[in-house]
Amino acid sequence: MVLPDGHQYELVETGRTIDGIALEPVDDPDIFRALIDNGLVAQECRDLHSFEKLRPLIELAKFCVCPTCLDRFDSREDCTACNGQGFVAKL
Ligand SMILES: [Zn+2]
Repeated sequence: MVLPDGHQYELVETGRTIDGIALEPVDDPDIFRALIDNGLVAQECRDLHSFEKLRPLIELAKFCVCPTCLDRFDSREDCTACNGQGFVAKL
């Protein structure tokens, strides 16, 4: 965000309310791994309802998919950017 006086700020989402429930960002790597694995299964099974429930939690988490290996199975194991996790902490 850039103010009229030229100062720049980066907005950081610290929480989200969905259907009246306040959610905080996931900061546990194991839980994030479970979220993206379940999201992939829902996507592969074309289960849009489940995927739409997982997506906000994945987006809000303090992690994101590794930009180097893109969490692809074949390149993830040797990825030094994420140490084989397939995701990295958001900056
Ligand atoms: Zn990686």
